[in-house]
Amino acid sequence: MLQRLTIPVTAFEQNCSLIWCDETGDAALIDPGGDIPVLEQAVRERGLSLKAIWLTHAHIDHAGGTGTLARTHQLPIVGPHPGDQFWIDGLPKQAQMFGFPQAEPFKPTQWLKDGDEVQLGRCKLQVIHCPGHTPGHVVFFDPTARHAYVGDVLFAGSIGRTDFPGGNHADLIHAIKHKLLPLGDDITFTPGHGPESTFGEERLSNPFL
Ligand SMILES: [Zn+2]
Ligand SMILES: [Zn+2]
Repeated sequence: MLQRLTIPVTAFEQNCSLIWCDETGDAALIDPGGDIPVLEQAVRERGLSLKAIWLTHAHIDHAGGTGTLARTHQLPIVGPHPGDQFWIDGLPKQAQMFGFPQAEPFKPTQWLKDGDEVQLGRCKLQVIHCPGHTPGHVVFFDPTARHAYVGDVLFAGSIGRTDFPGGNHADLIHAIKHKLLPLGDDITFTPGHGPESTFGEERLSNPFL
């Protein structure tokens, strides 16, 4: 079974997820936006073996630490979907705009598309392409733990911004309503910012849906 620890990183309090297979100790970091020493410490403390970086999308608060972390630990970079190439190319500009430390450039080792499966130890997760916040945004769904890592698609009581270049409000709503919520009311999720919630809670009470 996949275990998880949420570690807020950067001035944007972005929820980086440290995930690991409790049978093998293999770990991955989803959206290492920055504060790399804090992330390395969390891996070390638990005696885990860091195997990969997974990205939901390439905004600076989610992807800013990727290049450095991948280089220093020799990690493959999995995701996001190729629709976010222009956001990866624009990381230096994003860093400057939002006052982030300079982000080391990187190339994903493996791009993801809707329906792909990603594996960590003995755990398998499904990849769901959810464009709208960014064109190449993906969600990682763990069908065993009934948990989803949704990045900036959906939040407790809110949804992702769509006013950035390449954003599309209709696409975002469509992805949430037709790809995420049908997975089940019981699904818990880690959003890119703020507290966890469930799809059922959001279906009933999220004012944007
Ligand atoms: Zn974002
Ligand atoms: Zn974000």
